Amino acid sequence: MDKREKLEKIAKQVVECQRCGLFKGTNRSVPGQGNPNAEVVFVGEGPGYWEDQRGIPFCGPSGKLLNKLFQLIGLSREEVWIGNVVKHRAPNNRDPLPEEIEACRLFLDEQIKIINPKIIVTLGRFSMNKFLPGEYISQVHGQARFVDFAGEKRIVISMYHPAAALRNGRIMEQIKEDFKKISKFLEGGMGEIKKKQEENEQKQLSLIV
Ligand code: URA
Repeated sequence: MDKREKLEKIAKQVVECQRCGLFKGTNRSVPGQGNPNAEVVFVGEGPGYWEDQRGIPFCGPSGKLLNKLFQLIGLSREEVWIGNVVKHRAPNNRDPLPEEIEACRLFLDEQIKIINPKIIVTLGRFSMNKFLPGEYISQVHGQARFVDFAGEKRIVISMYHPAAALRNGRIMEQIKEDFKKISKFLEGGMGEIKKKQEENEQKQLSLIV
């Protein structure tokens, strides 16, 4: 099976999934969409109203902003892959519960393993917490971190959620600045980020001792 076929197989399992109660009352599941060979994967929180109608991630107002942010850095939706930590819309767009995130985890983990991207960009705190538990988005947004995920070291860059940017002009400016860093990290590759992370760790260590 090639990558596309493997992702399609997972998408079919998502459509039938009843591992938690979220599927009840939804119109469509939203397994994820995009390039199976993407270098960058974007992970949001969960489907909203429009995503539930269409089965496509980030196709409502937050998605329109995301498309503009892609344009800002010369990326297109066709080049990347986009998914969410939960694959069914939560009632009234409430926050996903830990057990719902856990129930969906195997799908997203498997999707990321198959795509094997250079960079994972998290959108919002639920997605950030998957890779950087215990961190605060206000402190880590725009930073690239090496994270052990599914047996590989991966670059994770956390961003505010586009919906937060639509509500707050200051976050809008910040998300634009953070997005511009993605292309820098893509060009710079692992070496530069590793060096920066080691420098930061060294700085923190010298603050402690
Ligand atoms: N918000 C998300 O987190 N994901 C979507 O797919 C849409 C809106």
